[in-house]
Amino acid sequence: MRILVVEDERKVAAFVRQGLVEEGHAVEVTADGEAALEAVAEGPPFDLVVLDVMLPRRGGLDVLRSLRALRVQTPVLLLTARDGVADKVAGLDAGADDYLTKPFGVRELVARARALLRRPRRAAVEARLTADASFEANGEGAQPIRIHGIEIDPARRRVRIEGRDVELTDQEFRLLHLLATHAGIVFSREALLTKIWRGDTYVTVRSVDTLVKRLRRRIETDPANPRFLLTVWGVGYKFADV
Ligand code: CA
Repeated sequence: MRILVVEDERKVAAFVRQGLVEEGHAVEVTADGEAALEAVAEGPPFDLVVLDVMLPRRGGLDVLRSLRALRVQTPVLLLTARDGVADKVAGLDAGADDYLTKPFGVRELVARARALLRRPRRAAVEARLTADASFEANGEGAQPIRIHGIEIDPARRRVRIEGRDVELTDQEFRLLHLLATHAGIVFSREALLTKIWRGDTYVTVRSVDTLVKRLRRRIETDPANPRFLLTVWGVGYKFADV
C-alpha cells in the first residue's frame, strides 16, 4: 500500500516511516502541508495519509479540509498533541478517519493504519461477493425453484410468493435462495455467516439473526410465526421441509 506521512518533526517522521515500511508499505514522507496537498491531489493515489496537525505554513487540519473539499476520499490518520482535544474534534469534523495522540507506540500506529487500510479492501471484498453471487445465480443453481408457493428465479433475481412479487436485497435473496434450495437442512448461524458474508470480518452471528428477521418480514404473512424460515433452537435456521 502507498502511504504518505506528513510530519515536520524528523524523529517522529522517521519512526512512523520505519514502522510502516516494516509492515511492507511504500512510504513517502513530506514535512510540509502544502507539498502534501499537491502530492495527494496530483500524484498517483495514496491508500492512507498519516497527517500531523502541527505543521509549518499550512496546518494539518487545513490540509485535511482542502483534501475533503477536493473530494479526495483517502483515509486520513491524524497525529495530535496529547492536550489537543479541540484538534481531535475538529479533525474528525474535517473528515479524519482516526487519530493518534503523541507520543504513541509503533504497534498502535501499525494497528490503526491496518484498520484504515482494510476499508478499501472491504469494498473489494463486497465487489467479489457480488461477483460470486451472480456467478452462482447464473451457474449451476440458475434454475428457478418453486417451494411452498414461493418461486425463486436466481437468473432474474426474482421472488414471487403466491403470485405476488417480493422485493429483496441482495443478502436477503442469497439467504432465501440458500435455505430454500436446501429445504429441511439446518444451517448454523456460523455456517450462514460464512456463506452469506464470506470473508467479511465486520459481522457477527447477530447479523444473521437480523437478516433472518428482515427476510421474515418480507416473505412471511406472520413473521412471529414463520411458515418458511424456521428457527431450530440452539442450532440455527432452516427452510420448511417439503
Ligand atoms: Ca509537527
